Amino acid sequence: MAVCWPKPGALTALSRIVLDNPCIRSSSSLSSSPATKQRSYWQYLRRKVLKPPVPPFSRVCQVGDPVLRSLAAPVEPSQVTGKDVQALIQRLVRLMRRERCVALSAPQVGIPLQVFVAEYPTRLLEEHPPDVRQARQMAPFPLRVFINPTMRVLDSQVVSHPEGCRSVHGFSACVPRFLAVQVAGLNEAGEESSWEACGWAARIVQHEMDHLQGILYVDRMESRTFTSVRWADVRE
Ligand SMILES: [Zn+2]
Repeated sequence: MAVCWPKPGALTALSRIVLDNPCIRSSSSLSSSPATKQRSYWQYLRRKVLKPPVPPFSRVCQVGDPVLRSLAAPVEPSQVTGKDVQALIQRLVRLMRRERCVALSAPQVGIPLQVFVAEYPTRLLEEHPPDVRQARQMAPFPLRVFINPTMRVLDSQVVSHPEGCRSVHGFSACVPRFLAVQVAGLNEAGEESSWEACGWAARIVQHEMDHLQGILYVDRMESRTFTSVRWADVRE
């Protein structure tokens, strides 16, 4: 059975819940090598002066962080317009735009709640040549926020294209995804909202829905296509 936390009213204690969770701490210590625990002198000084960072983090959690493997809990609907959830949404949107990515989920900032944001501005779309945009069915879309989303497959045709994830930084791989899906949930105002997404937008939705289940694209990828985005630079 899934652990259903945070309990209603406990959102302000999210940071403590995440940091104090014994399962997270023990699995984290098991997966960390001594080398990864070493901090630079600057980090040492910074930690001496400032308190440890608490979620929602201002950086994207990386693969290996147990929070990325957790099952995200639903948000109490009455709390959607509260300051904690609103702050979480703002953090996700800011970070998504700063990182120049097209979607981000709450677990990626250390909060295992069922929230994701997505946005595909034209300026990012135009970084891809027209033939790629057409092949991948890429189209811009405005900011969308989904809380407690559910997904339904509208077109079960499966297409495989390269995708990446800010939580698996520096890599990409081909991932098979359904061609069209409908996602429904609450928006940032706590209102019911749904979106029929096809092509690349459907891929984005499926990727984010996976994050809420503790699934990363590397779990679904065609493994022989796993690629460092810098492989060609390394040869130089
Ligand atoms: Zn991702």
